[in-house]
Amino acid sequence: MSFTLIEERSVPEINSIVRLYEHDGTGARLLSVINKDENKSFGISFRTHPSSSNGVAHIMEHSTLCGSRKYPVKEPFVELMKSSLNTFLNALTFPDKTVYPVASTNLKDFYNLIDVYLDSVFYPTLSEDIFRQEGWHYEVEPDGSLSRKGVVYNEMKGAYSDPDEMHADWCRRSLFPDTTYGFDSGGDPEVIPQLDYQTFVAFHKKYYHPSNSFIFFYGDDDPDTRLSMMDAWLAPFSRAEVDSMPGLQTPFTTPISVDKACDGNDDKGFVAVNWGLAEHGDLEYSIALTILTYILIGTSASPLRKALIDSGYGEDLAGFGYEESMRQTAWSIGLKGVAPENMGKVEVLILNTLAQLAKDGIDPDTIEASINTVEFALREKNTGNFPRGLAVMFEALGEWLYDKNPIDALEFEAPIRDLRAKLAKGERLFESMIDSLFLKNQFRSTVRLLPSTEEGRRREAQEKAELAAIRARLSDAEIEALKAQVEALNRRQETPDSPEALATIPSLDLADIPRQAPKLPCEVFSIQASEAVASMGLFHDLPTSSIFYFDVAFPFTTIEPRLLPYVSIFGRAILETGTDRFDYITIMQEIGKHTGGIGASVHTGTVWDSKKASASFIVRSKAMAEKTDKLFELLTEVLLHAKLDNKERLRQIVLEEKAQAEASAIPEGHRLVITRMRSHFSQADAMAERLRGSEQLFFLRDLAARIDTDWSGVLADLEAVRSAVLDFSHAIYNVTLDKANFEAVRPHLEGFVQGLVQAQGQVQVQGQASSSAAPNADPDTAPSAAIAPNAAPEVLLAPTQVNFVGRAYPIGMAGAPANGAFRVVKKYLDTVYLWEKIRVQGGAYGCPSVYDLNTGVFAFASYRDPNLGRTLEAYDAASDFLETAEISEDELRKCIIGTIGDVDIYMLPDAKGFASLVNYLVHYTDEKRQEHRDELLAASKSDFRSLGRALRAARDGAVTTLLTSQTGAQTLPAALREGAQEIQLL
Ligand SMILES: [Zn+2]
Repeated sequence: MSFTLIEERSVPEINSIVRLYEHDGTGARLLSVINKDENKSFGISFRTHPSSSNGVAHIMEHSTLCGSRKYPVKEPFVELMKSSLNTFLNALTFPDKTVYPVASTNLKDFYNLIDVYLDSVFYPTLSEDIFRQEGWHYEVEPDGSLSRKGVVYNEMKGAYSDPDEMHADWCRRSLFPDTTYGFDSGGDPEVIPQLDYQTFVAFHKKYYHPSNSFIFFYGDDDPDTRLSMMDAWLAPFSRAEVDSMPGLQTPFTTPISVDKACDGNDDKGFVAVNWGLAEHGDLEYSIALTILTYILIGTSASPLRKALIDSGYGEDLAGFGYEESMRQTAWSIGLKGVAPENMGKVEVLILNTLAQLAKDGIDPDTIEASINTVEFALREKNTGNFPRGLAVMFEALGEWLYDKNPIDALEFEAPIRDLRAKLAKGERLFESMIDSLFLKNQFRSTVRLLPSTEEGRRREAQEKAELAAIRARLSDAEIEALKAQVEALNRRQETPDSPEALATIPSLDLADIPRQAPKLPCEVFSIQASEAVASMGLFHDLPTSSIFYFDVAFPFTTIEPRLLPYVSIFGRAILETGTDRFDYITIMQEIGKHTGGIGASVHTGTVWDSKKASASFIVRSKAMAEKTDKLFELLTEVLLHAKLDNKERLRQIVLEEKAQAEASAIPEGHRLVITRMRSHFSQADAMAERLRGSEQLFFLRDLAARIDTDWSGVLADLEAVRSAVLDFSHAIYNVTLDKANFEAVRPHLEGFVQGLVQAQGQVQVQGQASSSAAPNADPDTAPSAAIAPNAAPEVLLAPTQVNFVGRAYPIGMAGAPANGAFRVVKKYLDTVYLWEKIRVQGGAYGCPSVYDLNTGVFAFASYRDPNLGRTLEAYDAASDFLETAEISEDELRKCIIGTIGDVDIYMLPDAKGFASLVNYLVHYTDEKRQEHRDELLAASKSDFRSLGRALRAARDGAVTTLLTSQTGAQTLPAALREGAQEIQLL
C-alpha cells in the first residue's frame, strides 16, 4: 500500500465516510470522501505563495492548461469543454492556493477529466509563447508605438474596472501587508509586466510538486481506484521540502487607514472597517462567527446592517463580511455610495453600533432566527449548479491548507449543539465575541476607495509614457525581434492542432450518451380553492431530505406597461416592509426562525409555438416538512397583509437594488448587452430588459428620485401592481417533495389556498374587483411590443478599461427554423472559432454566444474585450467560417457529446422542481425536448452550413450593442459611429 491511512471517520452531516491519507513516497495529502452522490468531484490544489502582484500564480493557472506531455494540443482545457459531460470544469487562483477542480456524473468522463488535469499540472508545456499569450507581451502597433497584450493582463484590467471588487480586495490586503496576502494574486495590470519567463517557470518547479499538493475525491466512484490511480501519478516523484505556508501577520497595535482611487464619474465612494482575527483551527469559533455575521448583517433587519442603511450615508453595504479562506481569518463591513465628508461618520457609526450591541445585548429573537438560518443552510447544502462535492472540498481546504484537520471542518452538529447549550445557560456568547473580536481588537484597518475621473487618465498617461520610454531604448533590430515574436505567436495560434494531437484527448463514445431526454417528474393536481374555483398545483416527487420546497407562480400578462418594471422590486417590497400585524424586523425574524427562507423572482419566456410572452411573479420558499403550517402562516401574512406604505424601507430597497444593478453592470457587461439586444426581437425579451436589463437600472434611478417628489404616485403604482399580480385563484402552486411527505402536507396546502382565495374574494366584494387582472387575457394586447431593429449600434457608456461587444442575428426571422442541431454548431463556434478569434488572438477574456431555439435569435457578446470593430468583423465572418470549415467526424462527435453535457445540467431536487415549473409555464413539453435532443444527436456537417447561411441571411436585421468607455467609443470605426446612439449607463 503506497498510501498511509491517517484517519477514517463517518461524517453524518454529509452522509459520508471520510478517509485522510498521506502518500508514502511524496507526502502528498489525499482526502477521500465516500458516499452515494453520483456527481463525482475531484480536485488537486497547491499551496501557492506569490511574493509580488505580478500575477504569476494566476498566469500559471491559465498556462498549465495550454498543453502538456501526454496532451500536446494548444488547449486541452478547451478540448474538454468541447467534448466532456462535465458538471464542473475550471481552475481557480486564490491568494494562497491554486485549485484544479472537475466534476462529472459519468465515471468514464470523470476519469478522463482527472487524467488530463493531472498531466497538465505535473507536466505542462509552459513554452515562452504560452507565457506571452496567457501572461503578457509587447506588440508593435502600425504607428510604431508599443502596446501590451495578454489574456490575464486583459482579464485583470477588467477586474480593475470593477470598483466593488477592487475595494473588497484592498480591504483584505490592507490587513496583511507583511505577508503573501498583501499582494494581488490575480495580478495588478501595472505590475504584471514585471514578470519574466524565468520567474514564471521557477514558480511551477517550486510549487507544483506532489509534496505541496492536496488531492480530493468525492462521490460514488470506487475508493480503491482513487488510490491506485494517484499512486501511478505520484510514483515518479520523490519527497521535496516546499516552503509554502503563508506567514502570519503580526497584529497592528494601532488601527491603520488606507486610501485608494479608482476610475469613475461618481463623487461618492466606498468605506469599510476591517479586522484581522484568529488563525484557523477552532471549529466552534468559526461557526459562531458565521452565525454572528448573520446576526449583524444577514438580512435588512439585522442590527448593524440596519444602522448603516438607516443612516442614509450610503446606498448599500460594502466590505467582504467574514473571510475564512486565509490562514488568519478576517471580518469587514462598510458602505458604498458614500460622500467623502460622510466616510468618517460611517466608521464611527460602525464602532458605536457594535459597542451598543455588546452593552445592551442582542435581541434573542434575532439570535434564534440567525442560528436556525445558518443551521438550515448547512444541512440543506444547496450549492445550486455548483457540485456539492466541490463545496465540501473548499470547506475542508479551509483547515487542511494550514495543516489542520480537514475532517473537523465538515462537522457542524456538535459545535451548534454546544453553542445552543451555552446560550440556554444564559451565556452572552455573541456579545462577548463583539467585544473581544471588534471593540478591543486594534488589528484593524479602514479602507476608503474614491472614484476619480483623473485616475483613468493618470493610468493611461503613465502607461503611454512608460511604453514610449521602453520604445526609445529599443534598437531597430530589437523591434524587429519583437515583431517576429508576435508573428510566431500568431502563427502558433492560427495553426490548428493536428488530428493526431487532438486524438490524444480522451472522450466518450456516442453510445455512452442516453438517447432519452431526462424526464423531470411532474404531476398536475387540483386544489379546491372555493366552491366555485379549482386552483392548479404541480407536484414533483423527489427525495428532498424532508425539505418542503414551495413556489407560488402568479402569471401576469395584462399589467399596464408603465407598471411592469416595478414587478422586480415588488417581491422585496412585500417581504421586507412589514405587515399589518408585524413590523418588518419581526416578520423577518419569524421567517428566519421557522423556515429556510422566502424570496421572490420574476420569470419571463416565450411560449413555445406561439409568439406570446409568458411572465410570472414567483414567490419561492422552503421549510422542513413538519414546519409547513408555520410557513403557510407566514406566506399568508406577506401575501395578504404586506404594508407597502413604508416609505423609508421602500427608499432603502430601491437604493440597494440600484446600487447592486450599478455594481453588476461591468462585471456582467455581456449579460447586460445580450439582454438589451434580444429585447428587440420578442415581447418576452422586451419585458426581460425592463425587468432586469439596463432599462431596469434607469427605472430604479427614476424611482429613487420619485420616492421624494411623488411618493403618493409611487404608492398608488405599487398598489396597482399588487392588484394586477397577486391573483390567488389563478396562481400555480408548485411543490417539490417526496410522496409520503406530500400526502401529509396536501390538506394543509388546500387550507392555505382556500384562505387566500377567500380573503381576496372579500376584498373584491368591498369594491376593488375591477382592479383584479382578468385571467388568460389575450397577451397580444399586452404591452412592450418588440422594438424594431436598428442598423446603427447602441453604445452604452461607462467608466471601464475593457469593452463588451455584442451583435444579435435574428436567424428565425430570416427563415431558419428552430433546430436542436444548431446547439452543436454553437458549441463548435464557442470552443473553436470564437475562442481563437476573440480570446486567443483578440485578447478578450471570453466570448459566449447564446442561441434561443424558441425565438430564433443567435447572439454574440464578448467579455472584457480590448477591441470593438475587430470583434464585430469576426462575428460577421462566422458565417464564412461555418460554410467552409472542414469538420471531421471525430470533432463532430466530440461537440455532440459536449453539447449534451450542457443540456443535461446536473440539478439538485429543488432545481428540478423549479425547472419543471418553468417548462410548464412556457409549454416546453417532454415531446418537444426529446425532438430537440434527437436533432442534436443527429447533427451533421450540413447543419454547420445551414447555420452559416442563416447568420449571413440575418445580417441585415442584426442588432449591435456595445458597452465601452467614452475613450473607447471614440475609437469606433467611422462606419459604426455614424448614427450610433450613445446611452450613459454609469
Ligand atoms: Zn483568469
